[in-house]
Amino acid sequence: METLDYYAILQVSRDATGAEIKKAYRKLAIQYHPDKNPGDKEAEEKFKLINEAYGVLSDEEKRAIYDRYGKEGLERQGAGFHAESMDDIMDIFNSMFGGAFGGFGRTQRRQSTANYAMDLEVELDLSFQEAVFGCEKELTIHYKSPCNACGGTGARDGKLETCATCGGQGQIVMRQGFMTFAQECPHCQGRGEVIRQKCPECDGQSYQLKEERIKLSIPAGIDTGNRLRIPAKGNEDRHGRRGDLYVLFYVEEDEHFVREGNNLYIEVPVFFTQCILGETITIPSLDGELELQLKAGTRDRAQFVFRGKGVPDVHGGRTGDLIAQIKMILPKKLDGEQKALLEQLQESFGLESKPHKSTFESAFEKIKSWLKGK
Ligand SMILES: [Zn+2]
Ligand SMILES: [Zn+2]
Repeated sequence: METLDYYAILQVSRDATGAEIKKAYRKLAIQYHPDKNPGDKEAEEKFKLINEAYGVLSDEEKRAIYDRYGKEGLERQGAGFHAESMDDIMDIFNSMFGGAFGGFGRTQRRQSTANYAMDLEVELDLSFQEAVFGCEKELTIHYKSPCNACGGTGARDGKLETCATCGGQGQIVMRQGFMTFAQECPHCQGRGEVIRQKCPECDGQSYQLKEERIKLSIPAGIDTGNRLRIPAKGNEDRHGRRGDLYVLFYVEEDEHFVREGNNLYIEVPVFFTQCILGETITIPSLDGELELQLKAGTRDRAQFVFRGKGVPDVHGGRTGDLIAQIKMILPKKLDGEQKALLEQLQESFGLESKPHKSTFESAFEKIKSWLKGK
């Protein structure tokens, strides 16, 4: 069977068009699909061959190499057919048919061709400044790549053995009364194959870690908990395909600005006389100094909103606001002169300087009348 020509396997002529090849594959793949031929080893072998042939002939570059140099030519170029397990073949089949043939999914055996997750996540700390203005960063990542010594199997010399528990089926059948249930084999996790001797290179892990420097362009407005996806920089599978890299950010706090979403808060300490008299002061903002006009009689904790002076939106939406909150500062202690001046000031206000008196006058009378009644 090994020597069979790919065109013969798909029963098409050597000058068949892409559409003809696809049509032929479709017909044969359905005919020999393992779900239609359960337990039929010959059908499974045919199904594998059909997929191998289609894997090459459906790819223009591989087909050209195959036409000129044959299977050996493909192997030399490293462009041969590398599906090693049924799962790989099911990947091809499913990617072609999508969900249209849902019944053929064999979902219980579908998994990544690698023994590990394809996506990789790393964490990255940013200073407050880097996060609000955006920045360029370089980081070193370590991603998983199939171990060369064992071909990513984790077994010595890549020799996996058929799982004895499920006989290589990847699933076991449980009986309960007259009902039967198919369950993923717990011994091989549905792979149908087990490692007898661990690969000494990777200690049975099936992968090695590779280092890569990655340049990142971080947009302005990133916040703690944001995730940036970098396509095809994750872990590598046996076909050289890579998952995605996700960078999770942690942003350090600033000494003055407190960030809440895209809004920034800043506490502005103001002396009590400034609050009373009013004054125009300058406060810091992300794009330089801002003027803050304190009206006479500004109260403690009063807030001033500067629209659009907050943090840029990381998704390109509205820029946040800067909110300045007044913190009124009282003198810590008074010298003799200051005390005298303040007493003089208080006196000049007359009754207004004793608001508790005017406020409680009627209350005092009322309470007296209550007490008399007792
Ligand atoms: Zn290994
Ligand atoms: Zn098993």
